[in-house]
Amino acid sequence: MNNNINYQDLTSILLGLDVKYDYSLKSLNRYGTGGNAKAVVFPSSSEELKYAVNTLKGKVPYCVIGGGSNLLVSDKGFDGVVISTLKVNRIDLKGNLLTADCGAKMGAVIKEMQDNCFSGLEFSIGIPATVGGAVAMNAGCYGKSVSETVKYVVTETGVYTNSECEFGYRTSRFLKGETILKVCFSLEPSEEDVIEEKIKSYKGFRKNPKGKSCGSVFKNDGYFAGKIIDEVGLKGYAIGGARISSEHANFIIASDNCSALDIYKLIKYVKEKVYVKKQIELLEEIVYLGEFE
Ligand SMILES: Cc1cc2nc3c(=O)[nH]c(=O)nc-3n(C[C@H](O)[C@H](O)[C@H](O)COP(=O)(O)OP(=O)(O)OC[C@H]3O[C@@H](n4cnc5c(N)ncnc54)[C@H](O)[C@@H]3O)c2cc1C
Repeated sequence: MNNNINYQDLTSILLGLDVKYDYSLKSLNRYGTGGNAKAVVFPSSSEELKYAVNTLKGKVPYCVIGGGSNLLVSDKGFDGVVISTLKVNRIDLKGNLLTADCGAKMGAVIKEMQDNCFSGLEFSIGIPATVGGAVAMNAGCYGKSVSETVKYVVTETGVYTNSECEFGYRTSRFLKGETILKVCFSLEPSEEDVIEEKIKSYKGFRKNPKGKSCGSVFKNDGYFAGKIIDEVGLKGYAIGGARISSEHANFIIASDNCSALDIYKLIKYVKEKVYVKKQIELLEEIVYLGEFE
Protein backbone atom coordinates (compact mmCIF):
# COMPACT_ATOMS: atom_id res chain seq x y z
CA MET A 1 0.00 0.00 0.00
CA ASN A 2 1.31 3.44 -0.92
CA ASN A 3 1.33 5.78 2.05
CA ASN A 4 2.95 8.66 0.16
CA ILE A 5 -0.53 9.97 -0.28
CA ASN A 6 -1.37 13.63 -0.16
CA TYR A 7 -4.00 13.45 2.54
CA GLN A 8 -5.54 16.78 1.51
CA ASP A 9 -6.63 14.97 -1.68
CA LEU A 10 -9.00 12.86 0.42
CA THR A 11 -11.56 15.65 0.27
CA SER A 12 -11.91 15.04 -3.45
CA ILE A 13 -12.06 11.24 -3.23
CA LEU A 14 -14.33 11.23 -0.17
CA LEU A 15 -16.64 13.77 -1.74
CA GLY A 16 -19.25 15.18 0.62
CA LEU A 17 -17.95 13.43 3.76
CA ASP A 18 -16.84 15.21 6.90
CA VAL A 19 -13.01 14.89 6.85
CA LYS A 20 -10.71 16.50 9.42
CA TYR A 21 -6.96 16.61 8.75
CA ASP A 22 -4.08 16.13 11.20
CA TYR A 23 -6.69 15.49 13.87
CA SER A 24 -5.97 14.65 17.51
CA LEU A 25 -7.23 11.22 18.59
CA LYS A 26 -7.26 12.14 22.31
CA SER A 27 -10.96 12.93 22.40
CA LEU A 28 -11.84 9.73 20.53
CA ASN A 29 -10.67 7.23 23.16
CA ARG A 30 -11.35 6.70 26.87
CA TYR A 31 -7.75 6.80 28.07
CA GLY A 32 -7.54 10.23 26.44
CA THR A 33 -4.08 9.52 25.03
CA GLY A 34 -2.68 9.57 21.55
CA GLY A 35 -1.24 11.78 18.84
CA ASN A 36 -2.88 12.79 15.59
CA ALA A 37 -4.17 10.79 12.66
CA LYS A 38 -3.37 12.03 9.15
CA ALA A 39 -7.13 12.40 8.82
CA VAL A 40 -10.31 11.42 10.64
CA VAL A 41 -13.51 10.81 8.68
CA PHE A 42 -16.92 11.15 10.34
CA PRO A 43 -19.50 9.46 8.08
CA SER A 44 -23.09 10.21 9.08
CA SER A 45 -24.85 7.10 7.75
CA SER A 46 -24.05 3.45 7.10
CA GLU A 47 -24.09 4.25 3.34
CA GLU A 48 -21.42 6.95 3.86
CA LEU A 49 -19.41 4.57 6.05
CA LYS A 50 -19.51 1.85 3.38
CA TYR A 51 -18.49 4.39 0.75
CA ALA A 52 -15.56 5.61 2.89
CA VAL A 53 -14.30 2.07 3.55
CA ASN A 54 -14.61 0.99 -0.09
CA THR A 55 -12.88 4.16 -1.27
CA LEU A 56 -9.92 3.89 1.11
CA LYS A 57 -9.46 0.11 1.01
CA GLY A 58 -6.19 -0.90 -0.67
CA LYS A 59 -5.15 2.75 -1.13
CA VAL A 60 -4.60 4.18 2.35
CA PRO A 61 -4.07 2.59 5.79
CA TYR A 62 -7.29 3.09 7.72
CA CYS A 63 -8.89 1.97 10.97
CA VAL A 64 -12.55 2.01 12.00
CA ILE A 65 -13.26 2.94 15.62
CA GLY A 66 -16.38 3.24 17.75
CA GLY A 67 -16.37 4.76 21.22
CA GLY A 68 -12.66 4.10 21.85
CA SER A 69 -13.50 2.29 25.12
CA ASN A 70 -11.06 -0.48 24.41
CA LEU A 71 -8.34 1.35 22.49
CA LEU A 72 -4.81 2.37 23.42
CA VAL A 73 -3.81 5.03 20.89
CA SER A 74 -0.08 5.68 20.42
CA ASP A 75 1.43 9.04 21.32
CA LYS A 76 2.75 9.01 17.73
CA GLY A 77 -0.82 8.90 16.46
CA PHE A 78 -1.89 6.87 13.43
CA ASP A 79 -0.15 7.15 10.07
CA GLY A 80 -3.36 6.84 8.09
CA VAL A 81 -7.07 7.56 8.25
CA VAL A 82 -9.27 6.86 11.25
CA ILE A 83 -12.96 6.42 10.52
CA SER A 84 -15.16 7.28 13.50
CA THR A 85 -18.59 5.65 13.47
CA LEU A 86 -20.07 7.86 16.21
CA LYS A 87 -22.48 9.64 13.82
CA VAL A 88 -23.67 6.36 12.22
CA ASN A 89 -26.30 5.56 14.79
CA ARG A 90 -29.78 4.69 13.51
CA ILE A 91 -31.83 2.09 15.38
CA ASP A 92 -34.82 0.30 13.88
CA LEU A 93 -37.14 -2.23 15.54
CA LYS A 94 -39.39 -4.55 13.53
CA GLY A 95 -41.14 -7.25 15.53
CA ASN A 96 -38.48 -8.83 17.75
CA LEU A 97 -35.64 -7.86 15.37
CA LEU A 98 -33.68 -4.78 16.34
CA THR A 99 -31.31 -3.50 13.66
CA ALA A 100 -28.76 -0.93 14.79
CA ASP A 101 -26.07 0.98 12.92
CA CYS A 102 -22.56 0.27 14.12
CA GLY A 103 -22.12 3.65 15.84
CA ALA A 104 -25.30 3.43 17.94
CA LYS A 105 -24.50 3.27 21.65
CA MET A 106 -25.36 -0.02 23.34
CA GLY A 107 -27.15 2.06 26.00
CA ALA A 108 -29.49 3.44 23.31
CA VAL A 109 -30.08 -0.08 21.96
CA ILE A 110 -30.96 -1.33 25.44
CA LYS A 111 -33.34 1.61 25.94
CA GLU A 112 -35.14 0.85 22.63
CA MET A 113 -35.33 -2.82 23.65
CA GLN A 114 -36.72 -1.98 27.09
CA ASP A 115 -39.18 0.68 25.84
CA ASN A 116 -40.71 -1.93 23.54
CA CYS A 117 -40.82 -4.76 26.12
CA PHE A 118 -38.08 -6.93 24.69
CA SER A 119 -35.33 -8.75 26.55
CA GLY A 120 -31.85 -10.15 25.79
CA LEU A 121 -29.23 -7.42 26.23
CA GLU A 122 -29.90 -6.35 29.84
CA PHE A 123 -26.60 -7.91 31.05
CA SER A 124 -24.60 -5.47 28.90
CA ILE A 125 -25.95 -2.37 30.67
CA GLY A 126 -22.95 -0.33 31.75
CA ILE A 127 -20.50 -1.61 29.10
CA PRO A 128 -19.49 1.60 27.36
CA ALA A 129 -19.65 0.54 23.71
CA THR A 130 -20.98 1.23 20.28
CA VAL A 131 -22.76 -1.65 18.56
CA GLY A 132 -19.80 -2.14 16.16
CA GLY A 133 -17.24 -2.19 18.99
CA ALA A 134 -19.37 -4.50 21.14
CA VAL A 135 -19.94 -7.01 18.34
CA ALA A 136 -16.38 -6.88 16.96
CA MET A 137 -15.04 -7.49 20.50
CA ASN A 138 -17.91 -9.83 21.40
CA ALA A 139 -18.22 -7.80 24.60
CA GLY A 140 -19.71 -9.49 27.62
CA CYS A 141 -19.89 -9.95 31.34
CA TYR A 142 -21.44 -12.23 33.98
CA GLY A 143 -20.96 -15.26 31.70
CA LYS A 144 -22.91 -13.72 28.79
CA SER A 145 -21.79 -12.05 25.59
CA VAL A 146 -23.48 -9.97 22.90
CA SER A 147 -22.99 -12.72 20.31
CA GLU A 148 -25.84 -14.65 21.98
CA THR A 149 -28.39 -12.16 20.60
CA VAL A 150 -26.81 -11.44 17.20
CA LYS A 151 -28.87 -12.75 14.26
CA TYR A 152 -26.71 -11.33 11.47
CA VAL A 153 -24.09 -8.69 10.77
CA VAL A 154 -23.84 -6.51 7.66
CA THR A 155 -20.36 -5.44 6.47
CA GLU A 156 -19.04 -3.79 3.32
CA THR A 157 -18.45 -7.26 1.87
CA GLY A 158 -21.71 -9.05 2.72
CA VAL A 159 -24.07 -10.38 5.35
CA TYR A 160 -22.85 -12.87 7.99
CA THR A 161 -25.17 -15.06 10.01
CA ASN A 162 -24.25 -15.62 13.65
CA SER A 163 -22.35 -18.85 12.97
CA GLU A 164 -20.32 -17.11 10.24
CA CYS A 165 -19.15 -14.31 12.56
CA GLU A 166 -16.40 -16.48 14.16
CA PHE A 167 -17.36 -15.29 17.63
CA GLY A 168 -15.07 -16.32 20.45
CA TYR A 169 -14.07 -14.95 23.83
CA ARG A 170 -13.71 -11.17 23.16
CA THR A 171 -13.15 -11.78 19.47
CA SER A 172 -14.85 -12.14 16.08
CA ARG A 173 -13.93 -12.15 12.40
CA PHE A 174 -14.54 -8.37 12.38
CA LEU A 175 -11.29 -7.68 14.24
CA LYS A 176 -9.43 -8.82 11.10
CA GLY A 177 -10.34 -5.85 8.93
CA GLU A 178 -13.97 -6.03 7.81
CA THR A 179 -16.18 -3.16 8.92
CA ILE A 180 -19.47 -3.76 10.67
CA LEU A 181 -22.08 -1.46 9.14
CA LYS A 182 -25.19 -2.79 10.91
CA VAL A 183 -26.13 -5.53 13.35
CA CYS A 184 -29.47 -7.29 13.67
CA PHE A 185 -30.23 -8.52 17.20
CA SER A 186 -32.93 -11.12 17.84
CA LEU A 187 -34.78 -10.30 21.08
CA GLU A 188 -37.32 -12.12 23.23
CA PRO A 189 -40.65 -10.56 24.22
CA SER A 190 -40.87 -9.92 27.96
CA GLU A 191 -42.70 -7.95 30.67
CA GLU A 192 -41.81 -4.33 31.45
CA ASP A 193 -41.17 -4.91 35.17
CA VAL A 194 -39.15 -8.10 34.56
CA ILE A 195 -36.80 -6.23 32.18
CA GLU A 196 -36.58 -3.30 34.59
CA GLU A 197 -35.68 -5.63 37.46
CA LYS A 198 -32.95 -7.40 35.41
CA ILE A 199 -31.40 -4.09 34.37
CA LYS A 200 -31.47 -2.87 37.97
CA SER A 201 -29.73 -5.96 39.27
CA TYR A 202 -27.06 -5.94 36.53
CA LYS A 203 -26.40 -2.27 37.33
CA GLY A 204 -26.01 -3.28 40.97
CA PHE A 205 -23.37 -5.93 40.12
CA ARG A 206 -21.19 -3.50 38.18
CA LYS A 207 -18.41 -1.83 40.10
CA ASN A 208 -16.15 0.01 37.65
CA PRO A 209 -13.11 1.53 39.36
CA LYS A 210 -13.04 5.33 39.37
CA GLY A 211 -10.91 7.19 36.81
CA LYS A 212 -10.11 7.03 33.10
CA SER A 213 -9.75 3.44 31.89
CA CYS A 214 -10.54 1.09 29.04
CA GLY A 215 -12.02 -1.61 31.25
CA SER A 216 -10.14 -4.89 31.62
CA VAL A 217 -6.71 -4.67 30.02
CA PHE A 218 -6.14 -8.46 29.89
CA LYS A 219 -8.38 -11.35 28.88
CA ASN A 220 -9.68 -13.70 31.54
CA ASP A 221 -8.54 -16.72 29.57
CA GLY A 222 -9.18 -19.62 31.96
CA TYR A 223 -8.06 -17.46 34.91
CA PHE A 224 -8.96 -14.07 36.39
CA ALA A 225 -6.21 -11.74 35.24
CA GLY A 226 -7.05 -9.22 37.97
CA LYS A 227 -6.60 -11.86 40.70
CA ILE A 228 -3.23 -12.93 39.27
CA ILE A 229 -1.97 -9.34 39.00
CA ASP A 230 -3.05 -8.80 42.60
CA GLU A 231 -1.27 -12.01 43.70
CA VAL A 232 2.04 -10.84 42.19
CA GLY A 233 1.71 -7.66 44.27
CA LEU A 234 1.09 -5.12 41.53
CA LYS A 235 -2.14 -3.51 42.78
CA GLY A 236 -1.51 0.24 42.87
CA TYR A 237 1.81 -0.04 40.97
CA ALA A 238 2.41 2.94 38.67
CA ILE A 239 4.59 3.96 35.75
CA GLY A 240 4.39 7.68 34.96
CA GLY A 241 0.72 8.61 34.82
CA ALA A 242 -0.52 5.00 34.48
CA ARG A 243 -1.53 3.07 37.59
CA ILE A 244 -2.91 -0.41 38.28
CA SER A 245 -6.23 0.22 39.97
CA SER A 246 -6.25 -0.64 43.66
CA GLU A 247 -9.97 -1.48 43.31
CA HIS A 248 -9.59 -3.94 40.39
CA ALA A 249 -6.10 -5.01 39.29
CA ASN A 250 -7.14 -5.72 35.68
CA PHE A 251 -7.87 -1.99 35.18
CA ILE A 252 -5.19 0.57 34.38
CA ILE A 253 -6.20 4.08 35.42
CA ALA A 254 -4.78 6.98 33.42
CA SER A 255 -4.12 10.28 35.20
CA ASP A 256 -4.58 13.56 33.32
CA ASN A 257 -0.90 13.74 32.36
CA CYS A 258 -0.69 10.05 31.37
CA SER A 259 0.91 9.17 28.03
CA ALA A 260 0.09 6.13 25.92
CA LEU A 261 3.71 5.06 26.44
CA ASP A 262 3.20 5.03 30.24
CA ILE A 263 0.26 2.63 29.77
CA TYR A 264 2.15 0.54 27.23
CA LYS A 265 5.20 0.24 29.53
CA LEU A 266 2.97 -0.72 32.46
CA ILE A 267 1.25 -3.43 30.38
CA LYS A 268 4.66 -4.85 29.37
CA TYR A 269 5.86 -4.72 32.98
CA VAL A 270 2.77 -6.57 34.26
CA LYS A 271 3.15 -9.25 31.57
CA GLU A 272 6.82 -9.80 32.44
CA LYS A 273 6.23 -9.96 36.21
CA VAL A 274 3.27 -12.35 35.84
CA TYR A 275 5.24 -14.57 33.48
CA VAL A 276 8.26 -14.75 35.78
CA LYS A 277 6.23 -15.38 38.94
CA LYS A 278 3.36 -17.49 37.57
CA GLN A 279 4.48 -18.75 34.13
CA ILE A 280 1.24 -17.34 32.70
CA GLU A 281 1.28 -15.34 29.48
CA LEU A 282 -1.37 -12.66 29.90
CA LEU A 283 -3.09 -11.68 26.65
CA GLU A 284 -4.30 -8.15 26.00
CA GLU A 285 -8.01 -7.55 25.62
CA ILE A 286 -7.40 -3.91 24.70
CA VAL A 287 -6.57 -3.10 21.10
CA TYR A 288 -3.52 -1.05 20.07
CA LEU A 289 -3.76 1.70 17.48
CA GLY A 290 -0.51 3.08 16.03
CA GLU A 291 3.13 2.22 16.78
CA PHE A 292 4.59 1.82 20.28
CA GLU A 293 8.14 0.49 19.80
C1 LIG B 1 -15.39 1.33 32.48
C2 LIG B 1 -15.34 0.26 31.42
C3 LIG B 1 -15.95 -0.96 31.64
C4 LIG B 1 -15.92 -1.97 30.66
N1 LIG B 1 -16.53 -3.15 30.91
C5 LIG B 1 -16.54 -4.11 29.95
C6 LIG B 1 -17.21 -5.35 30.17
O1 LIG B 1 -17.83 -5.58 31.20
N2 LIG B 1 -17.16 -6.28 29.18
C7 LIG B 1 -16.51 -6.04 27.99
O2 LIG B 1 -16.50 -6.95 27.12
N3 LIG B 1 -15.85 -4.88 27.77
C8 LIG B 1 -15.86 -3.91 28.70
N4 LIG B 1 -15.20 -2.74 28.48
C9 LIG B 1 -14.43 -2.56 27.24
C10 LIG B 1 -15.20 -1.89 26.08
O3 LIG B 1 -16.30 -1.18 26.59
C11 LIG B 1 -15.69 -2.92 25.07
O4 LIG B 1 -14.61 -3.63 24.49
C12 LIG B 1 -16.51 -2.30 23.95
O5 LIG B 1 -17.07 -3.34 23.19
C13 LIG B 1 -15.70 -1.40 23.03
O6 LIG B 1 -16.61 -0.72 22.19
P1 LIG B 1 -16.18 0.62 21.44
O7 LIG B 1 -17.31 1.05 20.59
O8 LIG B 1 -15.67 1.62 22.40
O9 LIG B 1 -15.01 0.06 20.51
P2 LIG B 1 -13.58 0.70 20.22
O10 LIG B 1 -12.80 0.75 21.49
O11 LIG B 1 -13.70 1.94 19.45
O12 LIG B 1 -12.95 -0.44 19.29
C14 LIG B 1 -12.65 -1.72 19.79
C15 LIG B 1 -12.32 -2.64 18.61
O13 LIG B 1 -13.49 -2.81 17.81
C16 LIG B 1 -13.23 -2.42 16.47
N5 LIG B 1 -14.43 -1.80 15.92
C17 LIG B 1 -15.15 -0.77 16.42
N6 LIG B 1 -16.19 -0.48 15.60
C18 LIG B 1 -16.12 -1.36 14.57
C19 LIG B 1 -16.89 -1.57 13.39
N7 LIG B 1 -17.96 -0.82 13.09
N8 LIG B 1 -16.51 -2.56 12.54
C20 LIG B 1 -15.44 -3.33 12.81
N9 LIG B 1 -14.66 -3.18 13.90
C21 LIG B 1 -15.00 -2.19 14.77
C22 LIG B 1 -12.06 -1.42 16.55
O14 LIG B 1 -11.34 -1.35 15.33
C23 LIG B 1 -11.25 -2.06 17.68
O15 LIG B 1 -10.48 -3.13 17.17
C24 LIG B 1 -15.24 -1.71 29.44
C25 LIG B 1 -14.64 -0.47 29.21
C26 LIG B 1 -14.69 0.52 30.19
C27 LIG B 1 -14.05 1.86 29.90
